[in-house]
Amino acid sequence: VKKIAVLTSGGDSQGMNAAVRAVVRSGLYHGLEVYAVQRGYAGLINNDIRRMDLRSVGDIIQRGGTILQTARCKEFMTPEGQQIGANNLREHGIDGLVVIGGDGSYQGANKLSKLGIKTMGLPGTIDNDIPFTDFTIGFDTAVSIVVDAINKLRDTMSSHERSSVVEVMGRHCGDIALYSGLASGAETILVPEVGFDLDEIAKRMADNFAQGKRHSIVIVAEGVGKGEDIAAEITRRNGIEPRVTVLGHIQRGGAPTHNDRILASSLGDFAVRKLIEGESGKACGIIKGELVATDIDKVVHTKKDFNMELYELAKRLSQ
Ligand code: ATP
Repeated sequence: VKKIAVLTSGGDSQGMNAAVRAVVRSGLYHGLEVYAVQRGYAGLINNDIRRMDLRSVGDIIQRGGTILQTARCKEFMTPEGQQIGANNLREHGIDGLVVIGGDGSYQGANKLSKLGIKTMGLPGTIDNDIPFTDFTIGFDTAVSIVVDAINKLRDTMSSHERSSVVEVMGRHCGDIALYSGLASGAETILVPEVGFDLDEIAKRMADNFAQGKRHSIVIVAEGVGKGEDIAAEITRRNGIEPRVTVLGHIQRGGAPTHNDRILASSLGDFAVRKLIEGESGKACGIIKGELVATDIDKVVHTKKDFNMELYELAKRLSQ
């Protein structure tokens, strides 16, 4: 490849900017011409493509969101839309593309790969729901935001002997709930991957309070249900009225942690090097500290393993 482009797509996540910066700077370092597509696949169809230089990505490594903006684009789901996108890239002479996004964005990249554009996917989503990578870009920051929020809740809860239900993001993947629950000492972690018994949870909470515990945190991944509903079910069983906090989009904002910046920088550079090697239709990830590229076909047809060891650990430590 001689000319490459980068775009961000789907939901935004902290660290996307650091990834864009890495793709642009690594591409330029390796002597490529680098372009950016604004607003994801929508911008690809509208030919919203511009040349990037070293300074175009200055002062963004620390910023949340994405300077390239993102979009959900129905038209790109159609073969006609994909063809327009590929043609627009070709008109600029662009033969390589890095797509930063989630599962849906990966599928779009795969379609472009089949139309002859060399593509690489980078995992940009806070949910950590992409297989063949231990972590996605934004996950570490989202977890640290949840942990910080729970620290604050704990201060006020212990003063009033209260319980809290905290609803966090994660429709199909409970990783934000799991990691932030373990890190903040939550008593109960509810995730879509593991069944649970509310009778048992309500009883344990009542017993713990009776034995002198001064606070209780139940963390709920949104895929399990609404925090309000879980709290109501608990009250119905044990009379305790947990306060409900829904963290919502706060989890997607703010400066990325150093872990996310380093992950984004490593993966962005890796994707560029893979394109230069002539690879295409691959999703880049990190497994046990090693950078890997896996066929997108395989990635989008595999469900991510849930870390039962961490889940059991959190359970053992939350007595
Ligand atoms: P998140 O996990 O944050 O939701 P995502 O990348 O999965 O991110 P989607 O909305 O699913 O978000 O996908 C982003 C865009 O990718 C879509 O709006 C669409 O333009 C494109 N896309 C999704 N699925 C496909 C597909 N099967 N074929 C072609 N393009 C697709």
